[in-house]
Amino acid sequence: MTEPEIVDVVVVGLGVGGEEVAGRLAEAGLSVVGVERDLVGGECPYWGCIPSKMMIRAANALAEAHRVNELAGSAQVRADWAPVAKRIREEATDTWDDRAAVDRFTGRGGRFVRGAGRLDGPGRVRVGDQVYQARHGIVLGTGTRPSVPPIEGLADTPYWTNHQAIEVEELPDTLLVLGGGAIGLELAQVFARFGVRVMVIEAADRVLAVEEPESSEVAAKALRADGVTIETGVKAERVSHDGSAFTVHAGGGSYTGERLLVVTGRRAHLEELGLDSVGVDAKQRYLPVDNRMHAADGIWAVGDLTGEGAFTHIAMYQAGIVVADVLDHVRRAKGGPDASGTASVVGGAAGVVSAVGGAMSAGGSTVAPGSVPVADYRALPRVTFTDPEVGAVGLTEQQARDRGINVQIGFAELSSSTRGWIHKTPGDGFIKLVADADQGVLIGATSVGPAGGEVLSGLVVAVHAAVPVSQLRHMIYAYPTFHRAIETALKDLR
Ligand SMILES: Cc1cc2nc3c(=O)[nH]c(=O)nc-3n(C[C@H](O)[C@H](O)[C@H](O)COP(=O)(O)OP(=O)(O)OC[C@H]3O[C@@H](n4cnc5c(N)ncnc54)[C@H](O)[C@@H]3O)c2cc1C
Repeated sequence: MTEPEIVDVVVVGLGVGGEEVAGRLAEAGLSVVGVERDLVGGECPYWGCIPSKMMIRAANALAEAHRVNELAGSAQVRADWAPVAKRIREEATDTWDDRAAVDRFTGRGGRFVRGAGRLDGPGRVRVGDQVYQARHGIVLGTGTRPSVPPIEGLADTPYWTNHQAIEVEELPDTLLVLGGGAIGLELAQVFARFGVRVMVIEAADRVLAVEEPESSEVAAKALRADGVTIETGVKAERVSHDGSAFTVHAGGGSYTGERLLVVTGRRAHLEELGLDSVGVDAKQRYLPVDNRMHAADGIWAVGDLTGEGAFTHIAMYQAGIVVADVLDHVRRAKGGPDASGTASVVGGAAGVVSAVGGAMSAGGSTVAPGSVPVADYRALPRVTFTDPEVGAVGLTEQQARDRGINVQIGFAELSSSTRGWIHKTPGDGFIKLVADADQGVLIGATSVGPAGGEVLSGLVVAVHAAVPVSQLRHMIYAYPTFHRAIETALKDLR
């Protein structure tokens, strides 16, 4: 057994969140070991956000070309998957090779270790036979993996997860998609636009069940227009594969397809992390953290693992907090002023605590002197990149009512706005606002439309900064934009 190696910080899992933390702490001058079992960068660049959005970009180009027939003459379109697969291989993933990402990390001053990391008692991480002893802390950013439901027979079949769906070089003729959440719908629409006959099977009574019911309706209508069959309220009971096709059995009926894509959620694998060696319960679904990402004494967690939202922007946001807090710890360990102990919340909405202390550079972003940011998820934005896009922030109407808030709702159809009317096809979309009538501020909003995710940004500012509704009503909204529908929805608040 080799001697433990002493370093400042060990980061386990170099996905979006872990890589950001490890790189920035290394740039700040700490000795950092970054441990990654698979590919540095994690799910987002290789099997998630980036390649899926390349697929969506291509599929939307096809859809837009078809719209020429309605708006601008005639166009003949022949879909070809080869350029999409090539772009994912060559531009997005380097054929699933992370050499560039490893160099990026080591170029920032970090030390890279390939392998599976596991806690081995307080302050210690084991990778194979080597133990690393962290002077200042350990950061866990091990993410999630697809969660495969315990459906009879499923585990024995060659089903796809998002990995195979992203890596596919030749498209099947037919595809069953188990799960009608954001990832399921995005991929279903892409493949349908490339000529695959797709069926989405969803157990809930509507797709995109976590969003507003109006969003579910628009998304389902759009996918059906692309030829996708959507079955909701269907609980798969058994899956079989006969060598060439899958059959999903449910409620006395069955559905058959050449491929089966399972996108029913994701799961953190806490049991692999040695958490019991530091007294943390490994049987939880996610690793709970406080608002500075502390999971336990000397242990921070970041990203999907924390269960605060499975988005790259959450992982990056949390990474900024971890970096600032670890640097604060290091400063205090060296006898510097205690920034966190004297913290007070500034402005409520800002999610920044200010404290007595010196200026701090959190490796790239500057935190106000003596301030350590704390997590505030009230204005968490989320976008489903279907066409039309479904953007949302904060609470849905139902979530707000469940909390006993005195709710006001404002609604505007995009097609009734000048820009929506000009745009014509596809015309579906809307703005829905959820206001707290007592506070006079927006606490949630949904923006569905051709640029739903972009229109959302103004609404995120409104929720995050708690801008009074009275002020939002007296803003000037450029004409004729999609976001002008926000003004109409504000007038409708009641
Ligand atoms: C198809 C798809 C599309 C998506 N699209 C979007 C999108 O448009 N926008 C968005 O915001 N989000 C999107 N996401 C979600 C996004 O990819 C994740 O939120 C993000 O990758 C989370 O980052 P993370 O650092 O928490 O974890 P991950 O990216 O999962 O990285 C965790 C890393 O830890 C490593 N690891 C695990 N255990 C160990 C161990 N014991 N030792 C060493 N290494 C370990 C893993 O190999 C992995 O590389 C999408 C996801 C999918 C699947």
